[in-house]
Amino acid sequence: MTSTYGPSILSNTESHALSTGYRRQGCNIKVYFWGTRGSLPVSLNAKQVRAKVVAALKAALRHSLGSDADVERFLDDTLPFSVRGGYGGNTACIEIRGCDEYILCDAGTGLRDFGNHIMRSGGGGPAVYHIFLSHPHWDHIQGFPFFVPAFVPGNRINIYGFHPELETAFRIQQNPPSFPVPLDYMKAEKKFITLDPGREYRIGGLTIKGIKQNHPGDSYGYSFEKEGKKIVYSTDSEHKEDVWGAEQPVFDFFRDADLLIFDAQYSFMESAYTKESWGHSSNILGVELAVAAGVKRLCLFHNEPACDDEALDAFLENTRNYLQIHSEASAMRIDLAYDGLEIEM
Ligand SMILES: [Zn+2]
Ligand SMILES: [Zn+2]
Repeated sequence: MTSTYGPSILSNTESHALSTGYRRQGCNIKVYFWGTRGSLPVSLNAKQVRAKVVAALKAALRHSLGSDADVERFLDDTLPFSVRGGYGGNTACIEIRGCDEYILCDAGTGLRDFGNHIMRSGGGGPAVYHIFLSHPHWDHIQGFPFFVPAFVPGNRINIYGFHPELETAFRIQQNPPSFPVPLDYMKAEKKFITLDPGREYRIGGLTIKGIKQNHPGDSYGYSFEKEGKKIVYSTDSEHKEDVWGAEQPVFDFFRDADLLIFDAQYSFMESAYTKESWGHSSNILGVELAVAAGVKRLCLFHNEPACDDEALDAFLENTRNYLQIHSEASAMRIDLAYDGLEIEM
């Protein structure tokens, strides 16, 4: 058995208690996005789906599609993402793959799809799940009551965060009159572990650090490092003008990240004016911070629920155009997260 815990505030006993030694076979580290929407889940209605079908069929009239392969090529090469697919509507949940155990950030509605995927693929138990919470706002915990592996005895679920009231938040959302299934009815072993932002942890084969962020009630970003690769998960964070001070810890936290997942719910105008102090950042600030910190790949996250797929396509294009204006020589890649996106490090 291999304990995956190194020097951290967790004692040997605690480390042993939190890890079964269950080890997922090694592969390159990847990030899979199960939920990417900010604030609340959204879904497509029949009218929106029809509009995509109509747009695709109209575009197809201009092409001769003689085979299945022609159709696939036409979809991938010709149609915009907003027509051939879409950004999805689950709230925040990402999985870091290729680790010793299951590693997740946040428990939004995307967690439900992750759990169903595990159950369908025969991995329902026994296993260890480590879930790192940015903060206890509803859109980051509301998937947990529907996380099927939490109902399976023998599974072990460690829920980490920097808010001491995390367990209370999980309990309250499942208590009457809001919900009929209390947390204790979920028969997996569940532990709530309060982290210290000044410490470094080794969990699931990753080196993990946290940073306090500006958000109503506070939120925390995480950096995960393994084998020379660095992923930063920084959602629900509003950066202010003083972020440009050279001593600001955010630069060190983001510095040289291979992937920065960044809260870009708003446009620059929204973040600077109409939605100032609402606790989120913009795509423009994301580009500027990422370039200044030497980030290799920027993934915009916590997508605005009021935006349809077409608007999000335009948002991504505008962000890429801004990078060209801001830093012409930059080779940084920019993505806009969508449910089902996988990024290999
Ligand atoms: Zn949020
Ligand atoms: Zn929040």
